[in-house]
Amino acid sequence: MNPIFKNPITDAESQYFWQAANEKKLYLKTCNNCQKPHYHPRTHCPFCFSTNTQWIEAKGTATIYSLSTMRRVETPYTIAYVELHEGPKILTNIVNSTPEQLQIGQAVNLTFQPSENGQLIPAFEP
Ligand SMILES: [Zn+2]
Repeated sequence: MNPIFKNPITDAESQYFWQAANEKKLYLKTCNNCQKPHYHPRTHCPFCFSTNTQWIEAKGTATIYSLSTMRRVETPYTIAYVELHEGPKILTNIVNSTPEQLQIGQAVNLTFQPSENGQLIPAFEP
């Protein structure tokens, strides 16, 4: 069982990101100045503060960097930092699995889960 996700907070900066999520695409921003991709999407590159950034579509493969299981709830669920193929680490939910099936270093793939209002949210599964 997967948790019901709360609606994400969307703003002008992340609007494109959430629209893409509804098409089951995970977009990152990459910096045209220092060439480093980053997440969350921002107007300014967090590494060099350049505003010369562009959207790129993430491949959707990642490995679990750290994980934490919430057990004091009816349906335990796992949140994790996963390291994307492109480099950035993102905080996400690991779904379609039980906590016992998950470990650090494990390969996971992008999937999407609807939130309460139907907005699709990026998540990962083994
Ligand atoms: Zn940069």
